[in-house]
Amino acid sequence: MSAKPGVAFHDFRISSSRDELSAVERVLNSGWLILGEEVRLFEEAWAAMCGLEYAVGVGNGLDAIEIGLRAAGIGPGDEVITTPMTAVATVLGILRAGATPVLADVDPEHALLDPASVDRCVNRATRAVLLVHLYGQMRDMAVWTDLCDRHRLTLVEDCAQAHDASCQGRMAGSVGQFGAYSFYPTKNLGAVGDAGALVTSDPELAQTALKLRNYGQSNRYEHPLRGLNSRLDEIQAAVLRARLPGLRDSTSRRRQIARAYEENVSSPWVQLPGLPQHSENHVYHLFVVRSPHRDALQAHLAASGIQSLIHYPIPVHQQRSLAGIRMDPQGLPIAERHARECLSLPCAPHLNDVEVSRVIDAINAFRP
Ligand SMILES: *Cc1c(COP(=O)(O)O)cnc(C)c1O
Repeated sequence: MSAKPGVAFHDFRISSSRDELSAVERVLNSGWLILGEEVRLFEEAWAAMCGLEYAVGVGNGLDAIEIGLRAAGIGPGDEVITTPMTAVATVLGILRAGATPVLADVDPEHALLDPASVDRCVNRATRAVLLVHLYGQMRDMAVWTDLCDRHRLTLVEDCAQAHDASCQGRMAGSVGQFGAYSFYPTKNLGAVGDAGALVTSDPELAQTALKLRNYGQSNRYEHPLRGLNSRLDEIQAAVLRARLPGLRDSTSRRRQIARAYEENVSSPWVQLPGLPQHSENHVYHLFVVRSPHRDALQAHLAASGIQSLIHYPIPVHQQRSLAGIRMDPQGLPIAERHARECLSLPCAPHLNDVEVSRVIDAINAFRP
């Protein structure tokens, strides 16, 4: 029996600061529970964080993608190119907007969408590229704006893993026509339940999104659009606003842990992830290594009390529910290999230096 406590991947207990509890108390005392002042103040704060005019709070990240696409006029008959190496929600959002998802392959080093593969997927029906800042990486944005200009496509961003990431001074979500955020509890900024937002500088898109999230309502009981019920509640908004001031520090801590892994993991059986172009391009939502002996490595870590996860074990095109999905005519071999080899190490602000060293030592002691 090991006396050491395990190294946990996540820790959802609220921070010791009283701010979160007093935020909840404030809402409960106010008696206003959905779409009120707390939501408005969080939207204002999140738009400012992203350097944009508008943020629209919604129920979750999947809805933010659907609502953003619909508000941008992207729907039936339109193809949207995205990645198979993502949360399935990315693709479900495209489908729910009524558009057709098309999957392009990823690059082997970062597991991000590969522009050459995207080029092969473009045809006359293509309307947009939905870029996913996977694992917290926001890089090569000039490549994407150029590619979209060249083919006259709309660029949109799935920022669910990229809170606080930026590229050449532009925050995630501010390069494309809109950015979709999730505040699911595991994300770098997490609520105490489901929450999401879309951000944009486009006033019309923001106005349409405000209607779509609330039954398509313009004035009370008047519904010019067929909307959905995706309202952010006041408790989630209040907790998010209480947690927002801590985001910068928790991003710094993630980067510190990532640097410790990059400098000290030396196993010949483990491939480290590609480095960011600049430190601000990566917020290390996940620290993902690759190994041809991935399952053995995961079992070895578990035996040392270290929890690891796989993002993602099944690429989107191999999900049974999405059989027949369109893709690069050359297939998606890099994404498939990544799914077989990737392993996410604990990399979150709740970890102390001793725990990080334990992870490093355990990896370096691994023998397949
Ligand atoms: C979490 C996540 C989503 C979905 O967000 P939910 O709030 O769970 O709906 C979408 N895309 C990516 C890349 C995610 O990581």
